[in-house]
Amino acid sequence: MIFDTGLRDYKSTILHFISRYSKIITVNMLGRSHDGTGIYDICLGKPTARKQIVLHAGCHARESLNTCVLMDMLEYFCENYTACRYHGKRFMELFETCAVHFLPLLNPDGAMLSHFGPAGIQNEHLRTEIQKIFESDLQAGYTALEHNEYFRRWKANAKGVDLNRNFDSAFGQYPSRSAPSCENYKGIHPESEPESTALAHLIATLYRAGTLCAVLSYHSSGEEIYWDYGQTGKRRTMESTLVRELSALTGYRLLPEAPDEAGCSDWVSRRLGVFACTIETGKHSAPVPEEELPEITARNMLVPCAAADFFVNHTEA
Ligand SMILES: [Zn+2]
Repeated sequence: MIFDTGLRDYKSTILHFISRYSKIITVNMLGRSHDGTGIYDICLGKPTARKQIVLHAGCHARESLNTCVLMDMLEYFCENYTACRYHGKRFMELFETCAVHFLPLLNPDGAMLSHFGPAGIQNEHLRTEIQKIFESDLQAGYTALEHNEYFRRWKANAKGVDLNRNFDSAFGQYPSRSAPSCENYKGIHPESEPESTALAHLIATLYRAGTLCAVLSYHSSGEEIYWDYGQTGKRRTMESTLVRELSALTGYRLLPEAPDEAGCSDWVSRRLGVFACTIETGKHSAPVPEEELPEITARNMLVPCAAADFFVNHTEA
């Protein structure tokens, strides 16, 4: 997928996937961003499977290279659905037992901002508000970057809320900026934003149905995996087995427990008691250069089937 073209044409890429792989995937629009773009969930495998995994990317504006990684994964699994196997199981058999929900682009407005600046936003009022955030960040001393570079490194959504600080876990403890900003502003309450609401709603629905096994959050960068949210006992033993497998597959190092207040993984792991990890792709700082895409894709390609296979084999999970 050529990235800039793919991003401007994200919806038609999704429609193309639907028409080509309609027997394998089920697509749902979970909500719309502030600028009106759909937030899509592409379920690979059987939507009614007893086990389900959620995998999402593009939460932070400048990290949308991972959107391409997830789309490439999806294409690979769809193209090889009946022909290829993982640990002896055909992909079809694996994903019919443990479905994987791909949310390739959680923050479409942010991705447009990072790639095209405010010109990438359709809504005129939003564009004006975004310009005000730039001025307020300059005044507060949060940035000294010139206009284009400031937006290239933007992390938040179009309203200046950092979506990975907008979840319902230790929300009060997060030392947030006091006003909308390019990063580190948590919003007025958990899930105040349509993008975080869309993801949280999907996760909560699967959780209540008793089918949610794991949530894997793709971010950048550092080639690292965060997974330690203070789990104990048998649960810790089981989850550490899975993350060691993911670390061996990707070559990414496992990190010790670190604060993640109001983050998605923190919410899923600490509040719901379900496996969560944050996978930080790329060697260079975000936005990770496109040249890294082939290596990132190669390292992460088998992550969805490794996770699915793990939960298929662990019936207690
Ligand atoms: Zn991130």
